[in-house]
Amino acid sequence: MESVEKRVRREIREQSVFSGNSTVCVAVSGGKDSMTALTLLRRFSAMRRGTRLIAVTADEGISGYRSESLCIIENHCRSLGVEWRCRSFEESEGFTMDRLAAATRKRTTCAYCGVFRRNLINSMALEAGASKLATGLNLDDTAQSVMMNIARADTSRMAMMGPHDRVVDGLVPRVQPLRQIPENEVLLYAMLSGIPFLRSSCPYSEEASRNLFRTIVLRMEEEMPGSRYSIVRSADAFSAPLPHGKARRCSSCGSVSSGSVCRSCTLRSEIGSMSI
Ligand code: SF4
Repeated sequence: MESVEKRVRREIREQSVFSGNSTVCVAVSGGKDSMTALTLLRRFSAMRRGTRLIAVTADEGISGYRSESLCIIENHCRSLGVEWRCRSFEESEGFTMDRLAAATRKRTTCAYCGVFRRNLINSMALEAGASKLATGLNLDDTAQSVMMNIARADTSRMAMMGPHDRVVDGLVPRVQPLRQIPENEVLLYAMLSGIPFLRSSCPYSEEASRNLFRTIVLRMEEEMPGSRYSIVRSADAFSAPLPHGKARRCSSCGSVSSGSVCRSCTLRSEIGSMSI
């Protein structure tokens, strides 16, 4: 536990999570990673006067799963004395993931959900005036994302991967205090510390293309211990820096985008032609 805390403290320092008098938002889903990130950030921010922590949650509208996690998050935030804000896809997009999942669609449920969730969480952090947006991404998640971006030749997404060290208008810089902690260590830490978290998985998680990359990264780690660290280190060394100042904007909604139309707008127009 001490070793985990030490490495998280080092990441917090290296990523300048608490710089000056600032508001830091923490994206919390109720899983072990985000609940651990929130708990540790709360503990380490307590020593820093002027730092305000706000937990933000996107409610995707997944019955029997998200509703249970919202109770766990609300209770934990109350016990930590952290403000909690939650907004649903129903409010922001006008549909729930359950309705979208039941419709005939071109993509996996996660392909829509991940984009709209990132968008919503960023909007909530912007509204809160946050200088940083912390996520609970652990070492395994980060290595999987790198491999996914490589397999898809998605260099723009690779360049947008956190942690971000500079500000782009309309995008709250993301920080990842757990990015050097393997997933099994986060789980063990959460259990030993008594951090509450949701143990069940999303009913749509089987569809996620990430599952393939989870298997690949675990297999690599088994055969070549240390692979996860090497993958993340390589991505850090090669990834292009975020563009300075004004980033490209979506011609439809005006949000930061790597193309002329952002991913959310592309998906929204697809969904517009579906009956949900
Ligand atoms: Fe959304 Fe997929 Fe995650 Fe479920 S598993 S919450 S559908 S991204």
